[in-house]
Amino acid sequence: MARFDPVVVAGAGPVGLCLALALAQQDVAVTLIEALADDHFLDQVPRAGSNHPSTLEFFDRIGLYDRLEPRGIIAPKFRYWDRQTGEMIAEFDHALLKNDTRFPYVLQCERIKIIEEALAMAKAHPLIEVRMATEFQSFEQSSDSVLARVTSAAGHSETLRGSYLVSAEGARSVARKDLGIEFEGFTYPERTLNIEVAYDFKRHGYTERNYISDPVEYSNLFHWKGPPDRWRVHFPTAIDDDEAALTRPQALQARLRNFLGIERDFDICGCNLYTVHQRVAKKFRIGRVLLTGDAAHVNSPIGGMGLNSGVHDAFNLADKLVRILRGEADESELDRYERQRRHVAVKHTQAQTIRNKRLLEERDPAVRRRNHDELRRTAEDPMLARKFLLRTALFESLREAEQIA
Ligand SMILES: Cc1cc2nc3c(=O)[nH]c(=O)nc-3n(C[C@H](O)[C@H](O)[C@H](O)COP(=O)(O)OP(=O)(O)OC[C@H]3O[C@@H](n4cnc5c(N)ncnc54)[C@H](O)[C@@H]3O)c2cc1C
Repeated sequence: MARFDPVVVAGAGPVGLCLALALAQQDVAVTLIEALADDHFLDQVPRAGSNHPSTLEFFDRIGLYDRLEPRGIIAPKFRYWDRQTGEMIAEFDHALLKNDTRFPYVLQCERIKIIEEALAMAKAHPLIEVRMATEFQSFEQSSDSVLARVTSAAGHSETLRGSYLVSAEGARSVARKDLGIEFEGFTYPERTLNIEVAYDFKRHGYTERNYISDPVEYSNLFHWKGPPDRWRVHFPTAIDDDEAALTRPQALQARLRNFLGIERDFDICGCNLYTVHQRVAKKFRIGRVLLTGDAAHVNSPIGGMGLNSGVHDAFNLADKLVRILRGEADESELDRYERQRRHVAVKHTQAQTIRNKRLLEERDPAVRRRNHDELRRTAEDPMLARKFLLRTALFESLREAEQIA
């Protein structure tokens, strides 16, 4: 391969790390910049963690899957519940995808474990220079390179030269703002409360992943491997609810008691409150600067699509950058990256997550009944259920993107 400057990747979240590994494993040098220092890297709040079959295939491509499986829970099934009646509406089993994928299940493995394992791999790779405690600040680009200005924790500034700059900085991407790219969409007028609790929800009939519809307080319930073995419950809260009051230990206990309808004290491991946005950047590329993952699109966590679709961006982009740097493709491939992945962000991730939330919070009894009947019918018919799973497991979005020239 001809000599070229490294690709500068800003952000060692799951997306930046997957991109760096996918590039380096195809002989492209990477400079990976992460604002957090090593000693705080694993202190981040709990976030995504349901890894869909299509994403597991990508993790496997870079050797990451084998490191994650022992740290996660294999979850072939997920269930929809009606909290008002306590009835399980529908169960979907990824076993129906056994001829579509080597991974007919979701791996419940939290973001923090993914970045811990992927960072160790990145540090061990001779073509990846990992710079922790280094914050990306700004850039300049010319026709053949990008200059990224970064600062160290001690305040020292430095300029790094790259062939391309990829912002994997998450939702607050400095590069996106510097490029003046609009982050189109909206923010929900409510916040989500996550409670993590060491308690066995299976004794109430729940499986590893559950979506619970309720016009008053819908929720999601997910199981994570310990220690301690624990579950995360999401609850909607009003935007003006006082954070201190919501997260007080007695309030968390009361919410869990109310959710399960039992009187007991729970062993709460933690909680956090966050605002949910549905936004997609108007452009994913300007010249040699590209946006990927949360820097390019954000969405509600219902359906677990943020991290998954971000990782799909990373692999799509890595393949194109490799071919361009090898001289096998021209830069118009990067416009195709934008066309393909922006289409997925708008038509799949945004549309599906907005639908998922509507389904769970629906208030009109007739619409609820209709929705639940449709879910039941879909789950009971293996052909319809497989089609449904191909969509929720994001295979459909990958196949559709492939058709985009
Ligand atoms: C509170 C919260 C809860 C969430 N819960 C869920 C969930 O339950 N399910 C779900 O599917 N999704 C959830 N998400 C979304 C999911 O976590 C993201 O879609 C996913 O992490 C995106 O990965 P990423 O690598 O693009 O960005 P991030 O994971 O945000 O990683 C960005 C990285 O870039 C670094 N960085 C940022 N700015 C700079 C800079 N200027 N210079 C250098 N480094 C920088 C950050 O420190 C971080 O390491 C949640 C998000 C939040 C914020």
